Amino acid sequence: MSNPTSLADILNSAPPNQTAIILPEPNIRVTYASLRDQVFQMADGLASLGIGPGDRVATVLPNGLPAIVSFLAASIAGTAAPLNPGYRQDEFAFFLEDTSAKVLLCPPDGAPDARKAAQGKVPVHDLVMDDHGYVRIAGVSNGRKSPAADPNGVALVLHTSGSTGRPKRVPIRHRNLAASAVNIVNHYKFTGDDVALCAMPLFHVHGLVASTLSTLLAGGTVVVPSKFNPLSFWRTVRDCNVTWYSAVPTIHSLLLARAGDARPEGAEKLRFIRSCSAALPPEMMAKMESVFGAPVLEAYGMTEASHQMASNPLPPSAHKAGSVGPGTGVKIGIMDGKGNLLASGDRGEVVIQGPNVVDGYENNPEANAVSFTNGWFRTGDQGYLDADDYLVLTGRIKELINRGGEKIAPREIDEVLLAHPAISEAVAFGFPHPTWGEEVAAAVVLKEPQTEAQLLAYCKDRLADFKRPKKFYIVETIPRTATGKIQRGAVAKALAG
Ligand code: AMP
Repeated sequence: MSNPTSLADILNSAPPNQTAIILPEPNIRVTYASLRDQVFQMADGLASLGIGPGDRVATVLPNGLPAIVSFLAASIAGTAAPLNPGYRQDEFAFFLEDTSAKVLLCPPDGAPDARKAAQGKVPVHDLVMDDHGYVRIAGVSNGRKSPAADPNGVALVLHTSGSTGRPKRVPIRHRNLAASAVNIVNHYKFTGDDVALCAMPLFHVHGLVASTLSTLLAGGTVVVPSKFNPLSFWRTVRDCNVTWYSAVPTIHSLLLARAGDARPEGAEKLRFIRSCSAALPPEMMAKMESVFGAPVLEAYGMTEASHQMASNPLPPSAHKAGSVGPGTGVKIGIMDGKGNLLASGDRGEVVIQGPNVVDGYENNPEANAVSFTNGWFRTGDQGYLDADDYLVLTGRIKELINRGGEKIAPREIDEVLLAHPAISEAVAFGFPHPTWGEEVAAAVVLKEPQTEAQLLAYCKDRLADFKRPKKFYIVETIPRTATGKIQRGAVAKALAG
């Protein structure tokens, strides 16, 4: 492994003929030589469209080669801003404006809501891929050369759900991503022989950094299905000789449900299975280890840390159920409300330091003031360090719903509901769900009659599927705590049990 400081460096670790990417459905293999060529050609294409350092390149793409090539190319020529293809037009309009997108890249004939949101505001270009797995921007002739990637430049901009309805913008620099990829490669001892199956979306750090960048940095191969499919998952693992994969507990539970008690063919090549982005119940971990026959390592990641902060280690070191493991090249502390670091075993807020941690939110001094204390970044998660320095997460200070790893700010849903003329009060909340971990519901007080079906239909036009309340509680008054306050946890308990 080289010592990378940018995403351009990450592409230099493998021999030219080594396979970098496998697309299993059309069965296309892309070598490192081809991937490098595509990325630098597209970076020049973006420069020819007027993209320079810091300019945001929004993309709305399913998982696949176009998502990977455009992410790397955009980060070199400007800044990549991948958006969730599940968003609705209003949501795209917000993200295109908030990121100041200079250009939007879409699949040909795809992403209708994003195209409508961009109309008259942001130029849209199609990404096309030929039968050999070569991706380019349709109709662009390269006239200008992109400058080399700057380690200090912002490679990627993503949003995280805030305590207000407005998501916070997280600028992630090349050096942050490179440091994170190095940490992950070292922790799991990746080599050029490793083959990762990317089961997570490529508009989150989980899929981008853990599955993709760290594997590329080790000179290994990333297998990229267009979406997670429990029916073809193990066939792909077997046919592509996959050695590890990372996913959220929701995906693990869907795979377990299909497998029954039989070890799926192909699982014997797995060195380990990684679980991250939401809590893995210890009984699910035990079942996975017995059925899939591979060590299951729970990790802890977040966007502001360019993904991984902690992970359980590979055997023969101990991996512990209910813990996310020790820091992985990241310093982890536990802090009280006054900013004091606490002793081992004491519960408090999890705080982190390291070269993978971003310098701050973009254009958001209020969020930066409360998120950094004495050089530590406050994660908003609660936990303690055990006697072996393994982190145990015990809860959250921040107000968010974690639905299968997707983070949702309940305030954002409240605001959409309060814009409805028949709703006078609205409180969204999460409730426990067997597959998603948490699911979204909302309590509403009405000024005029509305059925639950009408409210569901209203949300369908305005909120991406994952954010939409799946259940409405139409109430006379919102349940309050003993002291008369509205607390989402108390509303959830009173209504959803
Ligand atoms: P994101 O920025 O979307 O990656 O979300 C980061 C948040 O996901 C963290 O601050 C935690 O609240 C949560 N999270 C990540 N990994 C875990 C885990 N293993 N167990 C529980 N929560 C997790």
